[in-house]
Amino acid sequence: MAPIQLGSDQEQTGCLSSFFSSCSRTPKQELNEKFVYSAIDPMEQLPAYQDIAQAMDKLDVKCDSELEHIIESAINDIDAELRSISLDLHAHPETGMKEVHAHQVLTDYLESKGFKVTRHAYGMETSFMAEYSRGSGRRVGVCAEYDGLPGLGQGCGHNLIAISGLATAIGIKAAIESGKASGKVVLFGTPAEELSIGKIRLVAKRAFQDNVDVCVMLHPTSYDHQYAAFIAVHDVHVEFFGSPSHASAAPWKGVNALDALVQTWNGISMMRQQLLPTDRVHGIVTDGGQAPNVIPEHTSAFFFIRTTKHTQAPRLQKKMEACFEAAALATGCKVKYTWREIGITKDVVQNQVMADTYAAHMEKYGIKFPSEEEQIRAGGGSTDMGNVSYEMPCIHPAYGIHTTASNHTIEFTAAAKTLAAHKDTIRATKCLAATGVEVLLNEEYYNRVQQQFKENLAQ
Ligand SMILES: [Zn+2]
Repeated sequence: MAPIQLGSDQEQTGCLSSFFSSCSRTPKQELNEKFVYSAIDPMEQLPAYQDIAQAMDKLDVKCDSELEHIIESAINDIDAELRSISLDLHAHPETGMKEVHAHQVLTDYLESKGFKVTRHAYGMETSFMAEYSRGSGRRVGVCAEYDGLPGLGQGCGHNLIAISGLATAIGIKAAIESGKASGKVVLFGTPAEELSIGKIRLVAKRAFQDNVDVCVMLHPTSYDHQYAAFIAVHDVHVEFFGSPSHASAAPWKGVNALDALVQTWNGISMMRQQLLPTDRVHGIVTDGGQAPNVIPEHTSAFFFIRTTKHTQAPRLQKKMEACFEAAALATGCKVKYTWREIGITKDVVQNQVMADTYAAHMEKYGIKFPSEEEQIRAGGGSTDMGNVSYEMPCIHPAYGIHTTASNHTIEFTAAAKTLAAHKDTIRATKCLAATGVEVLLNEEYYNRVQQQFKENLAQ
């Protein structure tokens, strides 16, 4: 039996149409259409006011096409300016903590767009904060990165992350300015991501914790993952001290620091057999001795360890230290090892509620996302956004820029300046901005975001 029709020319308008269609009822007996209204007892057929109010509460704000239009227009209006900034940063790459040009370009631009800008924020020469607020309400943080890689330039596409940060902040600002949302947006300029320094220092100084309630950012890559997996990483410098001697005339008088290093290498190689499939240890020799005819008195190496959760790192650290100590004992050398002083780069906890909102917006553009399991399996890289994600709900989705090249390659550097990559960035950025605006608008949604954050941290 067909549901009652309110009229043959009824139009489907926005998402409310599906809500109201779900409220339509099937009559108990067949009725002639023209008698429909008189035949229904309104009190019996219509849902209770309370039910409607609850259902309205659950309606997604992304259905507010007017607000989406405001965000899109604000970002479209600055498209040419963003493209020019992106190409400028691509043509003038700067490595971590030396991003002087990017700092100037980005802060000048944000000031011209009406943000309150703090240059050199929190004691770093190339970090900044740009704020805009109106009325009371929640506070959305956005991160921009802009450092390049030595020898590779923008091999990780941080020129695109920089303009994505600008556009997300400007899109959210436009939503606030329209009067349809209130609260605050803060863009954090976070230097030296490739060195895993910027955000860790900002977290240590409570830059995020004291200023925003959630934090969002995007990263270009070769695929679209809303739950992009980023694992924890820590690093260690190890040195061995022996005694020099003539390598041929009196080798027995020497204590060979290179033997200690080789022993360490072998110890780690054997240790790998008993590590979890998700653990990683990799490194380089930074000093292997000075001359073949001198027993090396000093050697050094630099290792990274990675685990899926930062809480697992001490297990690996202990094993590494045992390899160092054992090699020193076996060769008679002294050993010194120094774990990174700033601390571990944590894994990224993606807030599923916000990640799904971002993905729902991207799906409207035809983007398909693999299953969560597939996305997690693809993890291998790390980012200092992880440390922010343990302080507040965060998302750091990855989006494809029409390349099959992996990040940190010459091919990816080339891809990061194409018009296709720019368009991909703008599209993903609109979806990120809409997610941020949802946090400002919808208290029930924000509560779910926070609830998810608590559940993730309890795991
Ligand atoms: Zn990167």
